[in-house]
Amino acid sequence: MLHDPILPPPRNLIGGAWRPAASGREMPMISPLDGRPFAAIADSGPEDVDAAIRAARTAFEGDWGRLTAAERGRLMLRLALRIEAEAETLAQLETRDNGKPIAQSRADMAALARYFEYYGGAADKLHGEVIPFLNGHDAISLREPHGVTGHIIPWNYPVQIFGRSVGAALAMGNATVTKPAEDACLTILRLGALAAETGFPPGAINIVTGRGAVAGRALSEHPGVDFISFTGSPQVGQAIGIAAARNHIPCTLELGGKSPQIVFDDADLEAAAPVIVGAIVQNGGQTCSAGSRVLIQRGIWDRLTAMLAERFRSVEAGPAEGALLGPLISARQKARVEGYIAGAAAPLIARGAIAGDAPATGFYVAPALFGPVDPASPLAQEEIFGPVLAAIPFDTEAEAVAIANGTEYGLVAGIWTRDGDRQARMARAMRCGQVFINAYGAGGGIELPFGGLRRSGHGREKGFAALYEFSRLKTVVHRFA
Ligand code: NAD
Repeated sequence: MLHDPILPPPRNLIGGAWRPAASGREMPMISPLDGRPFAAIADSGPEDVDAAIRAARTAFEGDWGRLTAAERGRLMLRLALRIEAEAETLAQLETRDNGKPIAQSRADMAALARYFEYYGGAADKLHGEVIPFLNGHDAISLREPHGVTGHIIPWNYPVQIFGRSVGAALAMGNATVTKPAEDACLTILRLGALAAETGFPPGAINIVTGRGAVAGRALSEHPGVDFISFTGSPQVGQAIGIAAARNHIPCTLELGGKSPQIVFDDADLEAAAPVIVGAIVQNGGQTCSAGSRVLIQRGIWDRLTAMLAERFRSVEAGPAEGALLGPLISARQKARVEGYIAGAAAPLIARGAIAGDAPATGFYVAPALFGPVDPASPLAQEEIFGPVLAAIPFDTEAEAVAIANGTEYGLVAGIWTRDGDRQARMARAMRCGQVFINAYGAGGGIELPFGGLRRSGHGREKGFAALYEFSRLKTVVHRFA
């Protein structure tokens, strides 16, 4: 049962204190479950962002920066336990705020705790090296934090992305300023409170809420930031990259995707079908790594599309605790996705339904399966960010590779075949950051380097790879007599 969650007040976390926006402005939070306002957040301006960056700098040069790597790690492990203890309350808040089914919110909280466990454990395990060099010289590399890191986070997986980005940054000793998304950010605020209770020094974790074009922009353009981690749309990511270049700082950009699942004639279709449907229905398709295209070899087209259609027809979008599919995040997003469905140039193979108990004011969209879809059409090229799957037939392996790589994105690919040689060839042929073979997106992927190329962004988060992003090397040479 959903219950009334504990709502964080409309305040920013700056230097360990909860402060309203300097302007006093607030903005309402709308629950996607019923389209009604249920809370408020601070509608922050550049002055609030500036205060947070100053607080982070003070922490970096003070109490936080003085901690040893082991001490930082211990604090993070303590926070992981605190998250686990409060996981159900956090999950309830997330479902109210974001609309996702409670099972998904629970999975998000488990992943969040695991990120702090993983990065807490890693804090004292990445370090510099002694480098063989000239006689009479010691050469070493020091691995150092960047300083103040900015984290701009989207609404689709607020806490998972906070965990992977802020978690890795803290592990390496950076002081952080987070600007969560205005559509869903309450769990991140609650997390800030938990971190303060756990004993993080004031200013190590700062959180400033508000609009992207105001607070987000102020954070990305501020000269006091040493590194920016951005997850969101390709459009905004480009602006972030330009702002980072102006300030001569590095950034990671985790952007969108149009990820293919490629199913060959010899695949285990019973295993593939539920995974393919799950990969586009999960979180309403509002997942950067959603498997939004399914490429099907001609010989199994009829059989696999029939299997997928049966599953699509059985999915009901609703607010019930056991629902596989919840509402989309906003009225705007719902209208956008429905626009793609109404304007599709391909035949509709199957459509799910909206559950009888779904409030008419909520943002529910029934899932849709289209095919055969022209690989050059918008349905096969553009990120819809909704429960819409484009099925595309192919004949040869070479054709599958060309279609799979034939978008501007390159994030994830799924390969379904029993042929070992083909598995190895296909894994190498995919132009993307992650490939799954006879699986897709399993297990949260906390340990697995993640990121894309081109319109999907650059840099790697998750896994140990993120620790390299959130730190830099300094070479020190010491000549001795
Ligand atoms: P968005 O780019 O509109 O917003 C993301 C964040 O950026 C929000 O916090 C927003 O407030 C902020 N923002 C907006 N405009 C800004 C600006 N001008 N300057 C600075 N910050 C600004 O994206 P969204 O609609 O929230 O999320 C959906 C998109 O994010 C999709 O394209 C999806 O694929 C992508 N995404 C990618 C990943 C990944 O890991 N690759 C993960 C989740 C979402």
